[in-house]
Amino acid sequence: METQKAFHRLLARQIQKHFPGQTDLGSEYDAFFKAISQSYTQHDNDRLYLEHAMLQSSQELLGKKQVITNLLETQTSAITSLRQSIAELLPENDLNANDDIMAIADILHKEVHGRKMAELQNVQINKRISYLLSSLKLGMVEYDLQGHIQFAHEKFYEIFEWPDGELIGKGIKELIDVSKESEYLSKFLGSFTSSDGLVLELPLFTYHKKQFWALCSVAPVYDHSGLRSGMVMVVFDITEQKTLEAELRFERTKAEEALEIRKTIMANVSHELRTPLNAIVGMSSLLGDTTLNAEQSEYVDTLKNSSHGLLILINDILDISKIESGALELEHTTFSMHQSIHLLRKGLNVKAQEKGIKLRLISDSDLHGYHMGDPTRLNQVITNLVGNAIKFTNEGTVDIILDLLEDRKTEQVIRIAVKDTGIGIPADRLDSIFMKFSQADASTTRKFGGTGLGLNIANEIVQLMGGEIAVNSTVGEGSEFMFTITLTKSEAPKLEEPNIILNKSLQGYRILLVDDNNINLFLAQTILSKWHAEVTSATNGEDAIKAVARDRYDLILMDLQMPVLDGFEATRIIRSDIKNNTPIIAFTANALNSEKEMCMSIGMNDYLTKPIQPETLFTAIMRLLPQNGQVAST
Ligand code: ADP
Repeated sequence: METQKAFHRLLARQIQKHFPGQTDLGSEYDAFFKAISQSYTQHDNDRLYLEHAMLQSSQELLGKKQVITNLLETQTSAITSLRQSIAELLPENDLNANDDIMAIADILHKEVHGRKMAELQNVQINKRISYLLSSLKLGMVEYDLQGHIQFAHEKFYEIFEWPDGELIGKGIKELIDVSKESEYLSKFLGSFTSSDGLVLELPLFTYHKKQFWALCSVAPVYDHSGLRSGMVMVVFDITEQKTLEAELRFERTKAEEALEIRKTIMANVSHELRTPLNAIVGMSSLLGDTTLNAEQSEYVDTLKNSSHGLLILINDILDISKIESGALELEHTTFSMHQSIHLLRKGLNVKAQEKGIKLRLISDSDLHGYHMGDPTRLNQVITNLVGNAIKFTNEGTVDIILDLLEDRKTEQVIRIAVKDTGIGIPADRLDSIFMKFSQADASTTRKFGGTGLGLNIANEIVQLMGGEIAVNSTVGEGSEFMFTITLTKSEAPKLEEPNIILNKSLQGYRILLVDDNNINLFLAQTILSKWHAEVTSATNGEDAIKAVARDRYDLILMDLQMPVLDGFEATRIIRSDIKNNTPIIAFTANALNSEKEMCMSIGMNDYLTKPIQPETLFTAIMRLLPQNGQVAST
């Protein structure tokens, strides 16, 4: 047997233990012990190998652990800085210190998603803006502060007919048609400094130098730091509107010219009608003052009535013409409502008495003493209503009722009604009677006369005063016409109208009478001579100037329409060249307000329309003569 020393030490120890002192155990066991010894040795080797391997692995593990530790540190600091960044950039997400990477990832995911959506929305908005610009035919352009185009929307290219993309870098000013008026360019340049931006109408050029007009809205554009970086302009082609505007302007000028012509025609017609009427009214008045037999008196009365009717008609037609052309203006003077209506009733009572009708005035005692308004036009309206009431009433009463509806601090609201017990108006005609030339029934003209203009004019005047005429009526029982106006309270005028002097006298006064119409001259001369005035006459403006330069007069009565030199020019020369201040009263057959204004503006002192009523003339003369008290006493 092989020596035991050759066996593995653990086997050798076992053999020693079990076979003490035996050195040879028999060769038949050699192979067996050898195999066991080899197994032990193999086992040792394996163990050594294993130990070695384990040593290596643990070293590797240590290395890996370090790597992982480093990685974790990096991650932690990355998460910390990520958290800080999120806190700074997205403060609305209140991330707390415990939030892990998943929470951060969730926030980031949401943010990225949100941004993507916003981008998508932006694209959609841009598309919509682009669509809107195109469909609204708006061209949009952006340029820098030097006016160099940075961007132009496709519609802008289309409007200006420029090839795509070629506007970039071009000067915006090149698109403006400076040949029109330089003010457009300077206004446009102003937009570079204006802080709010502005809207201008500009004459522009297309690529092919075709001119067109556009409405341009210019606004400043700012960069991220809030500094102005350029401008944006939106243009809208308004060539059509401009052409239409020009056409309308042309039409309006034509219409205004036509209106002027119409006014002139009205003035001329009025002049032509009033001149002979002046003679008829004046002559019949003079004739009435002479000694006449009963038959002659009747003829004169008829003459007076007819001429009076004709005068009303002419005045109505003139009023209609003034209303249609917007030339009817109200006066604002102080007047006494009591006095005015009282006088009106007195005048109309004659007619009422003739028909056996009672004309009553029922007036609210709280009405203020004086008001501001147009007494002449107010009288015209009430006279018309009362005149109609008397005309269409065969028996009974006509009442003029003044009611104070509201008494305010500075004004009063007054209701004026005219109520009669006359024939009444059918319900279906109540609206139309306010129309021009409209009467309730075709037989009215035959039976009662009239033109159907009165109510229309009255209503127009009341409307100018801020009211409207209303009517209640029952056929066979009567009618009530009413309107409400608001008048400002006023104080009694300082200068009371001179009393209608019973003892009319102009003795001692020198009056220059200027008129080219012989009949008018004769008429005025006769009236003035009856009041014992010293009258000198002239038949045109030139003669009047010579007379004024030669002699002293207390008053001049000046016709306006005269050959050689008219009343306007003569007055101008008397006032400015001769520097003479003698009071001048204009005499005219026209009755247009504009003429009155012109007379006053060139230095005339009053204005009377023909036919001249002696009372009116005397009052006007008295107002202007120096020391009229002296005259009244003579
Ligand atoms: P006219 O000159 O015909 O009186 P108006 O315009 O003043 O014109 O009146 C129009 C019509 O209204 C009259 O023709 C008449 O038919 C009717 N009318 C006006 N006032 C009265 C009234 N008080 N009673 C009955 N009918 C009236």
